[in-house]
Amino acid sequence: MVIGPVTFLLLAEAAPGAPAGFAPLDRLTDVLGVYERLLATLAAEGVGWVQLDEPALVTDLGAVELAAVRAAYERLGCLTDRPSLLVASYFGGLGEALPVLAGTPVEAVGVDLAHGDPAGLGALAGKTVVAGVVSGRDVWRTDRERALGALLAVREHAGRVVVSTSCSLLHVPYDLDAETGLDPALRRRLAFADQKVAEVVELADLLASASAPGSPAVPVSAPAPVTVPAPASASDPVAVPASASASAPVAVPAPAPAPMGERTGRSPYPVRAAAQAAHLRLPPLPVTTIGSFPQTGELRAARAALAAGELDEAAYEERVRAEIREVVALQERLGLDVLVHGEPERNDMVQYFAEHLDGFAVTRHGWVQSYGSRCTRPPILHGDVRRPEPITVRWASYAQSLTARPVKGMLTGPVTIVAWSFVRDDLPLRDVVFQVADAVRAEVRDLEATGLSVVQVDEPALRELLPLRRAGQDAYLEWAVAAYRWATSGAGDRTQIRTHLCYSDADQILAAVDALDADVTSVESARSGARLLGEPAVKGFGRGLGPGVYDIHSPRVPTADEVGELLEAALRVLPADRVWVNPDCGLKTRTYGQVEAALTNLVEAARRLRGAVESRP
Ligand code: GLN
Ligand code: ZN
Repeated sequence: MVIGPVTFLLLAEAAPGAPAGFAPLDRLTDVLGVYERLLATLAAEGVGWVQLDEPALVTDLGAVELAAVRAAYERLGCLTDRPSLLVASYFGGLGEALPVLAGTPVEAVGVDLAHGDPAGLGALAGKTVVAGVVSGRDVWRTDRERALGALLAVREHAGRVVVSTSCSLLHVPYDLDAETGLDPALRRRLAFADQKVAEVVELADLLASASAPGSPAVPVSAPAPVTVPAPASASDPVAVPASASASAPVAVPAPAPAPMGERTGRSPYPVRAAAQAAHLRLPPLPVTTIGSFPQTGELRAARAALAAGELDEAAYEERVRAEIREVVALQERLGLDVLVHGEPERNDMVQYFAEHLDGFAVTRHGWVQSYGSRCTRPPILHGDVRRPEPITVRWASYAQSLTARPVKGMLTGPVTIVAWSFVRDDLPLRDVVFQVADAVRAEVRDLEATGLSVVQVDEPALRELLPLRRAGQDAYLEWAVAAYRWATSGAGDRTQIRTHLCYSDADQILAAVDALDADVTSVESARSGARLLGEPAVKGFGRGLGPGVYDIHSPRVPTADEVGELLEAALRVLPADRVWVNPDCGLKTRTYGQVEAALTNLVEAARRLRGAVESRP
């Protein structure tokens, strides 16, 4: 298993100082020399097959990229001493790359047939086709008839058919058999990794026994079911290479559809901003966090004890309230301006909401990798979504009762809840997201009614669900933005609505982020060296913006001077009264020592700059 040379270069970035106009793909010839040596070495070791993963081939490719595909696989295919080559694609159809690959001498091509249709695969006549008919991206059982139909269609032309999953099984939990607590009716519809492998074998048997005169034999596992490298996050399609998406146009969507009698929108931003300024009375460059504070060992132990029945509800509740008291006191002492309750009750920003909404099931052992060594248990959204009762109100209102400063309510947005769950596939994704948006909307209104003046609805996964091909991107952004607006437009003008994005190149969809119409957006920026601030689109951003000034993925504590430099960079491109001071993301994974030191420096940097900002005309 090796990443393919074209994907490798399309995912690479030019080093700082590279000549203008240089693209990593320009180095294809050099890189192919390395692949040649690698293939020769593997052949000498007796390796029979090598899989080259080329997920970039399911994105929009221009003439230059397609020429690179042709050049790469003609050259590697023409080597004399080499293993057989399988070029694997997944997360979508090959489109214009299909005939190009078909024309090269590679022995096998892997195609994602979980959702796509096998028409057009005739171009692969004579080659081995690794047919990914069992979805590696969801937890649903495979429709046998549909899958077998696709396999039979592939067999019409292919030299050989290999039955496989549509991508690696990295994205799904291991074994359904471990989930004894799930509703039996739901369980019957599910397949995790072990069950999916069994489906692959069963389908291969079915195909082998399906009469087709003169048809070739069907190997089940030569080569092995397609396996792919980890993408950036659990439910993240492989990132679109910058060259393929940087110029993607972004539509500014129409306002959300609204049932009769509901508030359909809020006043224009300037009206709201004035109302909020008068109500909140914050200093310039207000300092806030993204929501979570460190999850201590005691908290986790208390949650485990609750689950094990060793701690009762009331004692657990008191443990959480004690944590909220400490977090609020700490923020007051450090001088933050908009406080949070710290999210001590949440093990995960999606799972917590799923546990409190109808329509979701949660697993006990269904871990999947999120990034690095971090794992999550994505909930399973299998039915209609409903919020039986308020979810976060008691925690947020308790925090607000402890302080005179504004506390912000913390919610996860509808797109992110759906993106980080396994989602029913009997409804369009858009409709599912709007059902969740309804529930979030009710929660926003309840938070406002309980007396909160600030509510943050996080959408870190907004960019993640963007379709890989341009053709679907505008339509997606239109409904995703509309769902967010529906979730938040029930709030009054005086209530500050905020959102937060991270884990993505938000700069690529800045117009859509602006169209969310949140009063303030905080976005990861420090981690990428404030590249965001260099984007021309930032200058046109029409609302409050908090470009992160503290990279929370690192244990390193930024100095007040470093934070000050990032703030000054922000002030050069944004009006001072719209700049917020905040970390890149939540503080959940840091220690209290690091957090205290870093937030002290954030407050210090903001205070140093406030005088200068106030005296500006
Ligand atoms: N409010 C969440 C937190 O602070 C946001 C996390 C995220 O964006 N991934 O933890
Ligand atoms: Zn974040």
